[in-house]
Amino acid sequence: MKPIQHSLQKWIQNNESFQERHNAMKREITSHPLVRSFLQAHEEITDEQIDRNLNKLYEYITQSHQCDRCTSVETCKNMLQGYSPILEYKNEEIHISYEKCRNRLAEEAQTEQSDLIKSVHIPKEILEARIDKVHVDQERTNAIKSMTQFLNAAEEKLPERGIYFSGPFGVGKTYLLGVIANRLKQFNISSMLIYMPEFVREMNASIKDNTVQQKVDAFKKADVLMLDDIGAETLSAWFRDEVLGAILQYRMMEKLPVFFTSNYTMDQLEEILATTTRGDVEKVKAGRIMERIKQVSIEVPVNGKNRRR
Ligand code: ADP
Ligand code: MG
Repeated sequence: MKPIQHSLQKWIQNNESFQERHNAMKREITSHPLVRSFLQAHEEITDEQIDRNLNKLYEYITQSHQCDRCTSVETCKNMLQGYSPILEYKNEEIHISYEKCRNRLAEEAQTEQSDLIKSVHIPKEILEARIDKVHVDQERTNAIKSMTQFLNAAEEKLPERGIYFSGPFGVGKTYLLGVIANRLKQFNISSMLIYMPEFVREMNASIKDNTVQQKVDAFKKADVLMLDDIGAETLSAWFRDEVLGAILQYRMMEKLPVFFTSNYTMDQLEEILATTTRGDVEKVKAGRIMERIKQVSIEVPVNGKNRRR
């Protein structure tokens, strides 16, 4: 008899302490300001419902709410990083769900925007170039004026022709491309910025893995294409006619702007384009490419001091 009585007593004791603990927790949870105001807003919630959902109410108060304890998504302490809990009373039931927090939304918007600039081999300082940081000096006023005109027009409708910045080394031609790409990003216009020598290398490498067509297509269709340092690379006839020629032909027909930077004027570039191999045929082909370049861009000289050390 004794052992049974003993265990029964123990059970009651344990159960009592369970009850006590439950009640203490319940008091603590329901007196939390967030839960208190939730319960005040939903007076129809019964005591039995509170008992049954104590775990949800507990979860709710232990999670960070709209970043009140975080500085970034990375350091978020919540079960679902970047999500903060919401408590609701729906269909006579208490529900806890999660929504994206402020930090996460801000981070997502940022990535979405940086996705608007695709670049290959362009230094970070260029990708961060901002219009308010451009030094206006006399030798560059024309370039800056053309850039501003393009950007003002782009806010309404993307112009058909970009700019061909020609001028000596170090005057800030590539920098201007960065400024333009960043400004266009704010109008949700995407730019593809590529350093020409790298473009040539990349396309030559793509022959092996059969991705030439796919890459050519991406360059054809980007909202704005920017070819940095044209003339600095040695072009094969294949690249000139089948890659560059095809891209420019498409963009000319579709009225999509292209930007260039070059150490050469358009006239000088025409000669360079003809010198892959010698002969009259090449001159005709170079002339054809130049015609397309002139259709998709307007030449603007940039001068001034060499800004590199
Ligand atoms: P380019 O393409 O004409 O050779 P870059 O655009 O590379 O010249 O510019 C040369 C250097 O000067 C880079 O380090 C660039 O960041 C800097 N630079 C150019 N323009 C500006 C500017 N307006 N404000 C500040 N830095 C500039
Ligand atoms: Mg440059």
